[in-house]
Amino acid sequence: MTINATPKIPTWLRRHLAQTGTMIDGVTRSARIQTCKTCHRTVIRGFTDEPCSILATCDLAPLSNLGEAVALMQGRMTFDLTYRGGRLEIDLREADHIQGSPPETPGWWRAKSDVLAEHRCNNNDPLPAIESRIP
Ligand SMILES: [Zn+2]
Repeated sequence: MTINATPKIPTWLRRHLAQTGTMIDGVTRSARIQTCKTCHRTVIRGFTDEPCSILATCDLAPLSNLGEAVALMQGRMTFDLTYRGGRLEIDLREADHIQGSPPETPGWWRAKSDVLAEHRCNNNDPLPAIESRIP
């Protein structure tokens, strides 16, 4: 007996997900560089981890500690962008991550991870940034 581990998405659902901008080249956790359809800036998009996965759209600049604080004060969510298993994945930073693992934290757990801010269209004020830690 063969078990289909990845069942096909019905055509109507695939079309709906594409039309609403929820699906990126098929449903995937692998983050992808794209152009924002509204302001035409380069962003990175991907689904966050389950449960309660959301589609995250982020600016590309890796935030410094100050940059994350400013982003949060602006009401923007922040995300970890991590190179994991040969691909880039985006994970929502919740209160314990923000407090316990700021962007400039030294150590192995942040070695292949950047902190990114939620994309806001036409935001012309760059946030304080650092060099990327992603190989
Ligand atoms: Zn935009």
